[in-house]
Amino acid sequence: MTGAARNRARRAALLLAALATSCAAAPTSSADRTPPPNVVIFLVDDLGWQDLSAPFWRERTPWNERYHTPNVERLCREGTKFTAAYAHCVCTPTRVSLLTGMAAARHRVTHWTLRADTPTDPERGGLRRPVWNWNGLTDTDATANATLAATLPQRLAAAGYHTILAGKAHFGAAGTPGADPCQLGFDVNIAGWANGAPSSYLAQTAFLRAGDDPIWQVSGLERYHGQDLFLTDVLTTEALAAAGASVAAQQPFLLYLAHYAVHAPFDADERFAARYRDAGLPEREARYAALIEGADHSLGRVLDWLDARGLAEDTVVLFLSDNGGLSAHGRAGEPHTHNTPLRSGKGSAYEGGVRVPLAVRWPGRTPAGVELAVPVSVDDVFPTVCELAGADPRCPDGVAFTPALRGQPLAPHPVFWHHPHWWGATGPGIEPYSGVRDGRYKLLWFYAGGRAELYDVIADIGERHDLAAELPEVTTRLRALLRRQLADCGATLPRGADGAVLPLP
Ligand code: CA
Repeated sequence: MTGAARNRARRAALLLAALATSCAAAPTSSADRTPPPNVVIFLVDDLGWQDLSAPFWRERTPWNERYHTPNVERLCREGTKFTAAYAHCVCTPTRVSLLTGMAAARHRVTHWTLRADTPTDPERGGLRRPVWNWNGLTDTDATANATLAATLPQRLAAAGYHTILAGKAHFGAAGTPGADPCQLGFDVNIAGWANGAPSSYLAQTAFLRAGDDPIWQVSGLERYHGQDLFLTDVLTTEALAAAGASVAAQQPFLLYLAHYAVHAPFDADERFAARYRDAGLPEREARYAALIEGADHSLGRVLDWLDARGLAEDTVVLFLSDNGGLSAHGRAGEPHTHNTPLRSGKGSAYEGGVRVPLAVRWPGRTPAGVELAVPVSVDDVFPTVCELAGADPRCPDGVAFTPALRGQPLAPHPVFWHHPHWWGATGPGIEPYSGVRDGRYKLLWFYAGGRAELYDVIADIGERHDLAAELPEVTTRLRALLRRQLADCGATLPRGADGAVLPLP
């Protein structure tokens, strides 16, 4: 570790010590005042925009026929569906933005994390990696240009909430404080750590596949080892038990239920796989579809649990994914085709990499059965949840979409991406880039060769027709908009072969 890195780590530890609440905190009674709503953030990993029977496009597609997600359909019927919601193109940037309300360019956790002081992004194509925040949310470089006043659970705790994380955390690298969700403000951590995927979904094998590095083993669920249970179901059971403790103490809860599903490995969830095998899908695709239905079943268990306790009208449920669906590798069939009509998939600048399903339900409060096409971002979840919870919503970048949840017009705002990295897999749009969507247009700036692409994503959702040369004024305007945002955030950029940092778009 360099001296500067040590200093950063020390500052990070101090920052986190100042921010952290006790992980052992029990729910405390607040029966003497009107409680704010419970909040469930139901986050599915790597779930594509088309990976649902509930359509998020204007047309039903063969994907909507393939998958069975009746509980997401129910959530959309009873709540508000956002058809142009965006995440970042891989896991950790989205999760850190969600927890901080910061743009990726500002928190600089622009790629996925695993081990302390160890970048995970390859170098290729004559580009060297940027100096990004590969330790994750624990590194104070994330706050070099902005004050991280508090994480989302800390804001809600300050408003009286008991805060629970169940499932995948993936906020910070192993060996740093941010690997532990309790160090980031959660009162309860069920199975969350530095790993971004499970070694195995099977309790039978202790959530560890023979031969795997134990860094991938899901931790904290030891009492289930050896049982014939699937991780998605175990997490749901544990999450509801923790939420039940909050209810018993009459304390509102934040339940951040972040499933490891539907990330690889595609272990067979035998509760659901037969339907897809019978439909003739290749085994790998049958297992993928079963992972999705398992996540949907978990959502159903949460909704039924709220109903059974008379809590539905006192609880906001947000459903979303953290990036586009995997399509570059690991799937049966032609790569880069599993998110059609969107182009490409996870890791890509194109819509297949970043457009995600988002639905929000608060019965009696949010409009039911409503579809909104206004673009919103995972960066916006932080202020939105804080506003709904009566907590302080201030954050560096996110813009609350609360008005839409009250049936009021939502003013459009630009959505920004900054992923200046190669990824392990390759494919269309899977290369170092920054981007902005403003209205109907989306500008992408690819750092290799320094080139712009412009799409009208309303008329051309598949991003087949590059308008950069045809609409030079729009291209110039959006490049300037993107350049200003990156400069404001202090974005870290790839370097050329000579080590010199590349110019802004
Ligand atoms: Ca992911």
